[in-house]
Amino acid sequence: MNRLPTLFVSHGSPMLAIERDPTTDVWTRLGRELPRPKSILIASAHWSTRAPMTTASARPETIHDFYGFPEPLYQLRYPAPGAPELAARACELIYAAGLPAAMDRERGLDHGAWAPLRYLYPEADIPVAQVSLQSPQSMAHHLQLGRALASLADEDVLVIGSGNLPHHLRDAFGASAGSAPFPYAREFQAWMKTHIEANDFETLADYRRRAPHAARAHPTDEHLAPLYVALGAAGERLRAECLYDGYTMGALAMDVWLFHPA
Ligand code: ZN
Repeated sequence: MNRLPTLFVSHGSPMLAIERDPTTDVWTRLGRELPRPKSILIASAHWSTRAPMTTASARPETIHDFYGFPEPLYQLRYPAPGAPELAARACELIYAAGLPAAMDRERGLDHGAWAPLRYLYPEADIPVAQVSLQSPQSMAHHLQLGRALASLADEDVLVIGSGNLPHHLRDAFGASAGSAPFPYAREFQAWMKTHIEANDFETLADYRRRAPHAARAHPTDEHLAPLYVALGAAGERLRAECLYDGYTMGALAMDVWLFHPA
């Protein structure tokens, strides 16, 4: 069996769940082109717990974890089956790597998971589990969490990190549709791209001190942490492929990356 790549997607605004744009076209194409996985494990920016947890519900509900959006968005369901076996396996791997781990048998899928999945796998026929972030913890921690999960790619599991690179929401929402990308966001993206392509994980883990405009691109870390989980889950050496570095809703950057086994 061939090892699967891991994937990072920028999920953008919840509106993308109902409004197609160039970003969602990239997701749709990717779902058709990737080898079909047996199951999917997602680290979303919208689920953080003190210690790592996985969702073990057999029938995860669709969580509408956003406020003030149009009603049709709240009617959407992503009825994919859960993946309790994968949830247990992921916990076993995390625990073996020296971290605590536990399962949550109730929690469903948040929009960081189901919004991109609606395009990647519109039939909702591949079992899905989520793994939580530990938001106050460092990027080195999230890289380690990903590394703990690295053998899943050999077991036909697609590991996805769903966040945003960069995540300059306040600036993006102040822009109008068709605004030019912010130069600082471009600079931040370029810095990340250089170090991702170089497999320079040590520098990446220290992005807050080293990357240009880090605090403006990511006022908080939670939308970047899923990138490190996806990077870690790809293994110690990887070939990074940037599939998209465009912008949506005016000016929100929407990087999509695939991390192939080297
Ligand atoms: Zn988000």
